[in-house]
Amino acid sequence: MNLLKFISYGNYSHELGNNSAYLKENNNLLLIDCGSTIFNSILEQGILDDINKIHILITHTHDDHIGSLSSLLLYLKYNHPTKIDYTIIVPEPIQKSVRKHLKRGGVTDDLFIIVKPLVGTYYIQDPNDESKTWISFKCKETRHVPELKCFSYCFKYKGHDYFYSGDTAELSVEDIERIQNLYYKMSYIDVTGNPNNPCHLPFNTLCNLLMPEVRQHVTCMHLDTLTKADIALAGFSTPIVTFGG
Ligand SMILES: [Zn+2]
Ligand SMILES: [Zn+2]
Repeated sequence: MNLLKFISYGNYSHELGNNSAYLKENNNLLLIDCGSTIFNSILEQGILDDINKIHILITHTHDDHIGSLSSLLLYLKYNHPTKIDYTIIVPEPIQKSVRKHLKRGGVTDDLFIIVKPLVGTYYIQDPNDESKTWISFKCKETRHVPELKCFSYCFKYKGHDYFYSGDTAELSVEDIERIQNLYYKMSYIDVTGNPNNPCHLPFNTLCNLLMPEVRQHVTCMHLDTLTKADIALAGFSTPIVTFGG
């Protein structure tokens, strides 16, 4: 049922790290976000072992989603023992702010490529057969904070659909229906334990929106005061991490 593993799955949390998920297959790595704590964790967890291509997707420019992207890119360019190609995939409306952020971190335009997938679907080739697609996705804007644009992603992988909310304060009617109808094999949804937090989806709201029968198809992520036990008790799935469950 699961598509993604998590490097870590916290809000701005010392113990849980920042929220970043990935898919690793056939020497390819799909990485979603690279917040402040993530670069160190990537090295500690050996995520780059056997990788020769990285596709980095960005949801928005809060530091807990992009804070160590410059470090990762500079490391790949200058320090990693083997060559790893990479592409940074950024929704068009935030690509300028991502570029600016990277420049501030010493990453100049010649070190990276930004692709704009906002219109239509972005396809990543199967590393073993270039005539086939490994994974494809679309992004769509979601409401998070007034000062920044944030994006969700819908993935298609091996004939199944998956949803990744990014940081979001709400779920669209379409996505609620899709979760209820099991259109998405798994959805990864940002939740907060604080019912008054205006920037993330309150966990009690999610419980009210989704009937218990479909909750196993929803992984709650970006945790603050909630624990994995709280989430599991309500019938939802918890993030699977690199080492263990
Ligand atoms: Zn955010
Ligand atoms: Zn965040």
